[in-house]
Amino acid sequence: MPAQSGRDPLKLLAVVAHPHDFTHCAGTCGIHMKMGDSVTVVTMTDGGRKHNERFLDEMSKPEHERDPAILNQSIEEYAAAKARELHEVCAIFGVEDLRILTMPEPFRLRRSPEAIDLIRDVILDVRPDVLITHAPYDTSPASISTHGRGSMLLNDHRECAITAMEAKLIAAEVADYESRIPPHRIAEVFYLGVDVPHDDVDVYIDIGEWKQQRVQAECMFKTQGQSDEFARYRVEISAGGTGWWGRTNYAEGFVRAEPETLPCLPVSAWAKVRATASRVDQLQHRAGQVKLGPQ
Ligand SMILES: [Zn+2]
Repeated sequence: MPAQSGRDPLKLLAVVAHPHDFTHCAGTCGIHMKMGDSVTVVTMTDGGRKHNERFLDEMSKPEHERDPAILNQSIEEYAAAKARELHEVCAIFGVEDLRILTMPEPFRLRRSPEAIDLIRDVILDVRPDVLITHAPYDTSPASISTHGRGSMLLNDHRECAITAMEAKLIAAEVADYESRIPPHRIAEVFYLGVDVPHDDVDVYIDIGEWKQQRVQAECMFKTQGQSDEFARYRVEISAGGTGWWGRTNYAEGFVRAEPETLPCLPVSAWAKVRATASRVDQLQHRAGQVKLGPQ
């Protein structure tokens, strides 16, 4: 499908650690798919050991009280169920090219160095213009409780980002000399805003039109033990909170890996809307009552 915006279609590649991590950029991917761009999603692991809250709950009970139906589900069965969920979630946003890798969890580069070559091969196959991945550093508020503030502790998300960035470098400089595969350079890299404090975010993508799909996607991750109410609340807090800081209704945040070089000072369509639209309309826009730009 040709791009609708009068430009050549873009190829986006999202490389994330676990299946659910796709949701943090799903609205943005949906927007680009609708514009005629293409999106490939790669998960570094199948999430077979991640977020199995029901299993952990059973294991926390005395042995005679444990439910064998939950306890006897193998990691492979759990991962297969999660893969089915992710395929369905991707479909909501029009994404068909989903590649689930099966790196051991927790994902650590020192244990799975082959992951760099695997992602390099994906880059050389897809030849994306845009790479979306986690932040290769960890300053997220979530790290306070789960990964150690700061943080010098390793975690799957940062290791995934480092892997993707290493693969990006190798794909750009050292292609496969034997098979004559040409190198590939990625034009822009965006880190997921959920991995950083909100004031690190420098790009907000307005996903107001995709909020229901985000909720629907969140509800579909049944393997993670979350109720529909939890799913709705999560989107309200995360995409709603990001939208608040982006001065819109719902948004997904990103951090550019490199500063922009432009021919002149940029003034976005949204900045002009903010400067000219009625103040009351802007309040109502943030509350989702009226829709101003940028569309
Ligand atoms: Zn994750």
